[in-house]
This record gives sequence, structure tokens and C-alpha cells, in this order.
Amino acid sequence: NKRIKIKSLLENASAGEKATLMGWVRTKRSNKHVTFIALNDGSCIQNYQVVADPARISEEILKKANTGASIKVHGSIVDSQGAGQQTEILAEKITLLGEADPEKFPIQPKKHSLEFLRENAHLRVRTNTFGAIFRIRHHLAFAVHQYFHDRGFFYVHTPIITASDAEGAGETFQVTTLDLKNPPRDEHNNINFGEDFFERATNLTVSGQLEGELAALALSEIYTFGPTFRAENSNTTRHLAEFWMIEPEMAFYDAEDNQDLAEDFLQYIIRFALEHCKEDLAFLDKRAAEEEKEKKAELRSDMGLLDRLEFVTQNEFVRISYTEAFEILKDSKPNKKKKFTFPIVDWGTDLQSEHERFLVEKHFKKPVIISDYPKAIKSFYMKQNEDGKTVAAMDILFPGIGEIVGGSQREERLDKLTERMEELGISQEELWWYLDTRRFGTTPHAGFGLGFERLVQFVTGMGNIRDVIPFPRTPGNAEF
Ligand code: ATP
Ligand code: MG
Ligand code: MG
Ligand code: MG
Repeated sequence: NKRIKIKSLLENASAGEKATLMGWVRTKRSNKHVTFIALNDGSCIQNYQVVADPARISEEILKKANTGASIKVHGSIVDSQGAGQQTEILAEKITLLGEADPEKFPIQPKKHSLEFLRENAHLRVRTNTFGAIFRIRHHLAFAVHQYFHDRGFFYVHTPIITASDAEGAGETFQVTTLDLKNPPRDEHNNINFGEDFFERATNLTVSGQLEGELAALALSEIYTFGPTFRAENSNTTRHLAEFWMIEPEMAFYDAEDNQDLAEDFLQYIIRFALEHCKEDLAFLDKRAAEEEKEKKAELRSDMGLLDRLEFVTQNEFVRISYTEAFEILKDSKPNKKKKFTFPIVDWGTDLQSEHERFLVEKHFKKPVIISDYPKAIKSFYMKQNEDGKTVAAMDILFPGIGEIVGGSQREERLDKLTERMEELGISQEELWWYLDTRRFGTTPHAGFGLGFERLVQFVTGMGNIRDVIPFPRTPGNAEF
């Protein structure tokens, strides 16, 4: 007898059929006459009710079918008397596949704190909350490929181990086969990376953009979707040391085309989730509402989760320049008593998360695209504007999240690019291959990077980025 997943049972089964289910016991209730087991197999958030008659199923099996144990159930589907579910299974045979000692299994049928579950990250996916989050994460990843594939973009795999650190931000994880306690040295007493496996210093990638640009200047429209690594020292609710980034890169796009694509893409992905993750989202919506009531909401918002998602898909994003954002912030008096306080901005300094939150959550109450940032605070490869002061950069800010996308039109003019690299002390020799794109058939092009976990955070309403990736990597945290 083949196993049926609970999801398809709920969708298709009707009374009278025989079925075999396998899954993990969520709860068990017994009286003298009958035992009810709520079984979950991860295919959906719903449990399936197993009805076991002690006259038919041995006492020992029923005793050991505790929360956390895995079992196989064979029986007949019958109409359910209970509310909420059409059918249930009347067990003819139950096999215990794996026991779970009730004294030791940490995930009990009660509400655990997210902190507790983080300490048990190896088992937390057995809860409703994390089951829902990781199913949604899957659907979002699938939607990313669907969106680009349907539009003729090609998925490009960029290297994980690279010799460039893209931004020169110095937040890279070094990779080397040398024994750094006792490394070989050259005549200047510097570490001699010539003896390394790669015969050079390498690091884990912080972004696939530069390599993505090479592909775009041949395939026209590409995207990468891979892990990126940043040795972020900050312990925030928005930063991981290992996160997944989606980076489309398009030849023949200008800054506005880039913004149009990013907005359309984000709305598509969120609509996809609303369509394909109804039950999991309904569960998380309720969860968020409870947190809100208990004043524990992690992702502050005036709206419920589902309303917020609908809202973003139905409303155009606000588009302003950095200078316009600066004017708004300059004239908005920071008020210490209110929710939004922020330091005064000087034109030319980067916006802090308090400024971004004010603009999105208070001033516009909509997603905001900020463009044309001062050139001094952005990367060398961004296209320089006519004014000589700004570059064609854009950040997209989302309510409750802050920056979700960072992108730009790229500088396609070789002279402008090398001039900027010189100013910033970025080696042209090391990036000779990147500069070749500007030497041979250069063309206007643009792209952006979207942090996949920030997107999952927005869609699930989870306040801490550690709760939307199965095994978060943060300072001091790499056990599982
Ligand atoms: P932030 O200002 O939040 O530190 P950033 O400007 O350093 O982000 P970018 O280099 O622009 O980030 O990367 C593109 C996108 O990747 C960001 O908009 C964000 O969504 C995501 N991102 C960046 N750093 C992290 C991180 N440490 N963990 C998770 N996502 C990240
Ligand atoms: Mg950063
Ligand atoms: Mg930023
Ligand atoms: Mg950025």
C-alpha cells in the first residue's frame, strides 16, 4: 500500500477508501473507548485525525504514539464527526516507526517562545509556525524562478569562492588552504598566498553582481539566486552572515526600467504567495494578530499580515530621489515621545534605518523607492549622474523591513568607471576582466540585489531574520 500525503488526502479522499499515512504525532487524546491522534506529515499545516480503537490497536503502540513519534497508519477513510475536517482515518493497523521520549522531546503541543525554538533549530520545523514558514519559503523560491523564466531571463550560477570582494566593504569570510597559524611568507614578510590552492587570496562571495554583469552583457537578461556571505558584526534582526540573494542583471535597461522590473517582480512574488500559500498565510496572519494583541508584535504595522500583503500588491510604490527624501526628513521634527525618532540628516550621509522606517511607515505608508544617492556613499560601479554628485542607485524600502532591495544602473563608460576606481583606490589590474565588459561592446545595463530572507520575513511577518532560514548563521551561531 502506497503512502498518501495528508495534503492530498484532505483534497481528494472520500469515505470508504483505504489509505496508508505516515507522519509525526502532534497530539494524542485517549479515553477508555478510543484514542485520537493528530498526525502531521509536513505536506500542509493541517493535521489528520487518526481514530484508534483499543480493541484493534495494541495498548503498547498507543502508549508509545506520543507527541513527536513517527507512525504509519493503515485504515479506512470515514466521514468525520468533528468540526473543521471532512474525513478522518479509522486505524486498522498502526506501526511505530520512531519513538520520541516524552520526557526529552522538546517540542511539545504548546506555544513555545521563538527564542526557545531558535535554540532547538534542529527540531523547530516540527511546529506549525516553522512548518508554515519553510513551506512559504519554498513557494517564494519557486516563484522567483517562475517569474524570470516566464520573461526569458536565464539563471546564471556565479562562483561561491571568488577573488574579488565586489564592494571592498571588508566584510568577507576568507578562504584559504594555508595554515594561517604558520603561513608561508614572502620577502616582505606578507603571507604568500602563491602557495594557496588557488595561488591567491580568496573569499566567500558577498554578491554575484560583477560576474552577473558579464553574463548579462552576452545573454541580455539574467538572474542569479545563490548564497552570499558577509561577516556582519552587527547583531540585528535584518542581517545574517549567510543569506540568499536574488540578483537580476539586464543589458539595455536604464535606471527606470530597473525600478519597473523590481516593483513588478516584488508584487508578483507576493501575489504568488497569496495564491499558493493560503492556509499557511492564514495561520501566520492569526499568529501575527495574537502577537499584536499581546503587544509582542515583532514586525510593527498598522495592518494585519494578509492586509499588508494585499496592500503592497495593489498600490504603486512611491518613487523619490535621495534629495527629496532628505528634504522630507529635514522638515520632519524628530519627536522623542513618538514612535519615530531619528537623527538629523546632512545631505550626503547615508540614511539610517530610523529614517527609512519614518519614510515608509509614517510619511508615505507605502513601499518607497529612493533613487539617486550621493555618490560618496555608494559603490564604484554605479552610473554617475550629470550633476557630478549623485549616482543612479536605488534602494527599495518595505514597511517593517526597511531596505529590501539595493540596485543601480551600472556605469558603462570605461573612462568614468576607471576614474572612480582610481579615486577609491580600487585596483584596475585585479578587476581587468570586469573592465573588459566596458572595453568590448559596452552598453547601458542595470540590476539589483534582493535579500531573499528579507522577502520571506515580509511575507511571513516574522520580526527576526533568524526565523525565516532553516539554519541561521549569525555571530557565534553555527551549531546547526
Ligand atoms: P543593509 O543596509 O541592510 O546592511 P546593504 O545595503 O549592505 O544592506 P546590499 O549590499 O545592497 O545590502 O545587498 C542587497 C540586498 O541584500 C539588501 O537590500 C538586503 O535585502 C540584502 N542583505 C544585505 N545584507 C544582508 C544580510 N547581512 N543578511 C540578509 N540580507 C542582507
Ligand atoms: Mg550592509
Ligand atoms: Mg544599505
Ligand atoms: Mg544596499
